[in-house]
Amino acid sequence: MTILFSQKFPVDQKVHVAKGDDPYENTRAVLNRIDLSFLKNKRVLLKPNVGRIAPLGQGIITDSRVVAAAIDWFTEIGANVAIGESPIVGVDTMEAFHAAGITEVADKRKCRLIDLNEGKYVELPAPDGIAVKGFKACNPIFKFDFLVSIPVMKMHMHTGVSLSIKNMKGCLWRRSKVDLHMLPPVSGNEEKPINIAIADMSGVLRPHLSIIDGTVGMEGLGPSAGKARAVNVVLAGLDPFAVDAVACRLMGTTAEKIPHLSMGAERGFGVIDLNQIQVSPENWEDWITPFLPPPENLSIEFPNVKVHDKNSCSACQSTLLLFLKRYRTVILDYFPKDELIQFAIGKGHETIPENTICIGNCSANIGKSRTFIKGCPPVASEILCEITGKLSIDLLDGKSETPD
Ligand code: SF4
Repeated sequence: MTILFSQKFPVDQKVHVAKGDDPYENTRAVLNRIDLSFLKNKRVLLKPNVGRIAPLGQGIITDSRVVAAAIDWFTEIGANVAIGESPIVGVDTMEAFHAAGITEVADKRKCRLIDLNEGKYVELPAPDGIAVKGFKACNPIFKFDFLVSIPVMKMHMHTGVSLSIKNMKGCLWRRSKVDLHMLPPVSGNEEKPINIAIADMSGVLRPHLSIIDGTVGMEGLGPSAGKARAVNVVLAGLDPFAVDAVACRLMGTTAEKIPHLSMGAERGFGVIDLNQIQVSPENWEDWITPFLPPPENLSIEFPNVKVHDKNSCSACQSTLLLFLKRYRTVILDYFPKDELIQFAIGKGHETIPENTICIGNCSANIGKSRTFIKGCPPVASEILCEITGKLSIDLLDGKSETPD
């Protein structure tokens, strides 16, 4: 068995960008500018973002045409290529590949699709980790020589952006991904534990090459509830931090503002300073397409809803987001017209209104005298049942959406 990163491959701070109507050609154009001839007869794993069941063109998952181009290009240089993913909890990997059009693309090319959740996990120690000292990594990735992160360009409500470093979270085994969203605060560190944990992960689980699909990205409430935004670019490079930094600039932000990227760069895992990154072509900044940032608070996104959020983790935030996305109009009938519908998540609330609905075990104390939905986190349909008083109301009952 090959141990990940046992082989050293070249890294430089060159990032290549291509813009045009055809994502397949854009992908080939950027790969043609990188010398990867050393991958002849090597095993290459492509890791797109297919973490959810979603169709093309919404900015949720990687465009299958980008994946198709990567398969063709790596095959042509003599590499043995496969595609792998470990989606969010509750999503079947093969179903997600099928919905994304990746099964069709892979079948045509006789390229192997791998459910990374297969088998037992491998302990991946992170002795220098600040929030996390190790990860449960998916076993199949250790059978490859070279790992390629192929995310879609997104804003992300918990981590600022979701690009090639964040996409590696889909190499973590099954539910262990969610653990990163439920970490306790790090003593003496104000930063959100999820961001520190992703920076920790980037120290031990970094892709050798990043190809970012900016065909249609997502602005605002990413990773799944924002708005699609077409940019029609593809980026690639050997330093994932550098590629993410250029993608941040194209989205109208900077990597210095993204905690997991700035912390990872400070720790020497990659370069985000655009002055040290060589981007081609020279006019790439003409293609900057500012994305709306993710909202600071869910209340902003949903009229008539107020969310009291104190020290919550992203797992409860995701549950509440999913609930509001799915059921906000359904629950309007259960509240007086024009009344603000209030929710509390997290712990340490001092004064919140009596009619607040308390979600998750952390809010149990204040939930004693209020409507309270237990769970860590609860499932969205459980909140609906509690509010409506009906036992089961939805075909989606029992299906949660864990954070990615
Ligand atoms: S109850 Fe919610 S906020 Fe508290 S740890 Fe569990 S998921 Fe996180």
